[in-house]
Amino acid sequence: GERQTLSDETVEEIRAIFRGQVLTSDDLGYDDIRVVQNAMLDRRPGLIIRCTGTADVVDAVSLAYKRDLLVAVRGGGHSIAGTCTADDSLMIDLSMMRGVWVDPDQRRVRVAGGATWGDVDRETQLYGLAVPGGVVSTTGVAGLTLGGGIGWLHRKYGLACDALRAAEVVTASGKIIRCDGTEHEDLFWALRGGSGNFGVVVSFEFEAYPLGPMVWNSMIVHPVDAVTEVLSRWQDWTSTVPDEVTSRALLWSLPDAPTLPPAVHNRDVLITAALYAGTPDEGQRACRALSGFGAPLADMSQARSYRTAQSSLDPFFPKGGLQSYWKSVYLDRLDEDATTFVARISHDRPHPTTMVHLPLLGGAMSRVGTTETAFGDRSARYLLSIDGNWLDPAEDDANIRWVRNAYGEAVRLRAASGTYLNFGGDADLDDADRARAWGRNVERLRRVKRTYDPENRFRLNPNIPPAES
Ligand code: FAD
Repeated sequence: GERQTLSDETVEEIRAIFRGQVLTSDDLGYDDIRVVQNAMLDRRPGLIIRCTGTADVVDAVSLAYKRDLLVAVRGGGHSIAGTCTADDSLMIDLSMMRGVWVDPDQRRVRVAGGATWGDVDRETQLYGLAVPGGVVSTTGVAGLTLGGGIGWLHRKYGLACDALRAAEVVTASGKIIRCDGTEHEDLFWALRGGSGNFGVVVSFEFEAYPLGPMVWNSMIVHPVDAVTEVLSRWQDWTSTVPDEVTSRALLWSLPDAPTLPPAVHNRDVLITAALYAGTPDEGQRACRALSGFGAPLADMSQARSYRTAQSSLDPFFPKGGLQSYWKSVYLDRLDEDATTFVARISHDRPHPTTMVHLPLLGGAMSRVGTTETAFGDRSARYLLSIDGNWLDPAEDDANIRWVRNAYGEAVRLRAASGTYLNFGGDADLDDADRARAWGRNVERLRRVKRTYDPENRFRLNPNIPPAES
């Protein structure tokens, strides 16, 4: 319905409540601070509250309740569907809450709700530890973990959400709830895959695993014309590798960046990449075969520091630098049908920054049962993510249409199963989307939603409507 606009006087009253900064569109800095990763989301929240701690979050949640304001929660701001920001909303911005505390003896890491994976890697690597995260270091821990979390370690150590041991949550009623495997177990279950539906997570507690500082990181660039041959060999190879190897294929175009060998400049390419969760020597041996497929344009495989590997894709994803719309399907196998499809769409990508991303799944993440966490079915061997990126807002419609068409075909592949919502471009889900994402966990998610957010105050997320009583 019609929402209230706040008078100047009220804004002053609101400012007095918070330790953190409160911004309206009249304030200096507002236009910088409202920027999020996806440039397509040029939205104007009514109020941005830059929370500095749990008390600010509690007061922001109750302010939104009192004044019936739409709540947007922003962690790392990387949501593709744009659920972290909305016009006229009250944005609970956690980007000032980026603390990371490592307990090396217990191998536990506490992470504040607005931290990025780069923040976590920086602190944990001091002790030779790592938490399974994503592949771009500027991505938020919060959204990625709450939606699952696929990266370079999921085959060895599971999804990011599988490493979660406890969380502290501010719920819709303003209560602070700590949940783990024994306390508020239902909430803890729902947070591992059910996204931001259940409240604002102010801190995450993860188990960390020994890794680094150096790791083996394969990175081989092929001409796109070799896609059918190389993908089929990659497919064979991925069925033989140990859990230490996490691998992905990327169909993309590389720019003429000085850090890249000239042979790959401005080329449409297939990149096969791998990271080995062990010593660089073991990794080099385990990944040697990957360097032997076809006739690569360049082989940039080498031992790198884990932090370098974790941030090597960052320059390609500048904040607010790309318009993005992504869609994904799980693939039970990479059969001929799927390979032919991937080869075809990789040739007609509408923009060089559009990527077809094919991570290998399985390993530790697939040994967690479907109903053990909210995440759902984990049996797929691959994920096929069609990541539309482009530069010109005038081309939004054409690019979104291309991704939707490709996705429409992908869901009809013989090997296709569900969808991974962290690589999803749409904010409004219907029952079929929810079933594709969470399968038979939907009903339980709806009951947990009713317990912790019966009025659906937190609805800017891959939304789960509360169960009817
Ligand atoms: P935000 O946009 O801040 O939040 C996403 C959602 O979570 C929103 O609905 C928001 O309201 C909610 N939320 C945020 N913080 C909190 C909180 N503290 N408590 C409760 N709810 C909260 N995913 C992968 O699995 N692996 C990858 O390797 C990967 N790489 C990516 C690379 C790029 C460049 C981008 C843009 C995305 C990538 N993703 C990846 C997808 C990513 O997991 C999702 O976009 C995720 O939502 C990002 O989390 P965030 O905190 O940055 O996002």
